[in-house]
Amino acid sequence: MIAAPFAYARPSTHEEAARLLAGASGLASAIGGGTALFPLLSRDEQQPSLLVDLRGLGLEDIRVDGEELVLGARVTYDALVGSEIISRHAPLLALMAKGVTGGRSITGQGTIGGSACYANPASDVPACLLALRARLRLVSLRGTRDIPASQFFTGPYQTLRRPDEFLAEIRADISRSVGAAGYHKLKFAGSSSPIVTAASTLQMEQGGIAEGFVAIGGAGPVPIGSAFQVRTSDRDSVEAAVKAIVRAMPAGWSDELADGDYRRAVAPEVARIAIEAALEQADG
Ligand SMILES: Cc1cc2nc3c(=O)[nH]c(=O)nc-3n(C[C@H](O)[C@H](O)[C@H](O)COP(=O)(O)OP(=O)(O)OC[C@H]3O[C@@H](n4cnc5c(N)ncnc54)[C@H](O)[C@@H]3O)c2cc1C
Repeated sequence: MIAAPFAYARPSTHEEAARLLAGASGLASAIGGGTALFPLLSRDEQQPSLLVDLRGLGLEDIRVDGEELVLGARVTYDALVGSEIISRHAPLLALMAKGVTGGRSITGQGTIGGSACYANPASDVPACLLALRARLRLVSLRGTRDIPASQFFTGPYQTLRRPDEFLAEIRADISRSVGAAGYHKLKFAGSSSPIVTAASTLQMEQGGIAEGFVAIGGAGPVPIGSAFQVRTSDRDSVEAAVKAIVRAMPAGWSDELADGDYRRAVAPEVARIAIEAALEQADG
C-alpha cells in the first residue's frame, strides 16, 4: 500500500509535462513504466507530492532519423526484443532486453528511459547506453539538452537530469551501433539483479572490424567504457581491451548482493565474455 498522498497528472504535450515538473511544490516524479517507482512508494522510500504520467506523450517509438537511431524514453524491453529496427541497428539492446527478469509485468512495462533515470548501478540499461555511445535528450521549459551517456550517470541513483526535466528520447549514431554485439552479466540467481554487466559493440568495415567498445556496469558507481582496436583473427587484443577497461575502473560500489572489491574482481572476466561473444558474432 502507498501510504503518502500524492497528486497525479497525465499531460498530453511535452510543454504541459515540463510545466507540471517545474511547478511542483515538492518532489515531482515522472512515471515511465512504474516498475521501479511504485515499489519505492509502497516501501515509503520516496514521497513525491506529484506523479507525472508520461503515457500521453508518444514516447514509445523506435525509429531511424537520418543517421540516428531514436528510442522514445517509454520504449519497453518487450518492444526492444520485437523490433526489426533494433535487430538491424542496435542488436545489443535486443540481447540485453531478452535477459531482463520479472516476467511480462516488468518486460512489458519497464522502460529503457525509466531504467536510465533510475540509474541503479546493478541494472542492465546503463552500460548498454554507454556502449552505444548514446545521447539522452532531456526536456524542460528551458528547452532540450542532449547529454552523452558517458556523462549522464553521476553516481548510484544519480544522473545529470534536473528535477524539472524529463527524459524524452535516447539517440545513437547508426554507424556506431551497427555491427556485432555481445552482452554478458554475472548474477547469483536467475531472478536476482546483476552483479556486473558488460556490453560490447563492434563497428564492422570491409575486411574486418574497425573499432570495438566495451562498457561495464555495476563494478563501480557509474558505468565505464573504453574503445579498443581489434580484428577478428587477433585475439590478443581482447586481453588489451580487458586491461584497458580495468585501468578505467573507479572504486567499487557495494550493495546487499556484493561488495565493491568482489564486483571489481569479477568485472574483467565478465568484460572478456562480452567481447568474445561480439567477436564470435562478427566471425559468424
Ligand atoms: C521483479 C522485477 C524484476 C526486475 N528485473 C530487472 C532486470 O532484469 N534488469 C534490470 O535492469 N532491471 C530490472 N528491474 C528494475 C526496473 O523495473 C527496470 O530497470 C525498469 O526498466 C525501470 O523502468 P520503469 O519505466 O518501470 O521506471 P519507473 O519505475 O517508471 O521510474 C524509475 C525512476 O525513473 C524516473 N523516470 C522514469 N521515466 C522517466 C523519464 N522519462 N524522465 C524522467 N524520469 C523518469 C521515475 O520518476 C523514477 O524515479 C526489475 C524490477 C522488478 C520489480
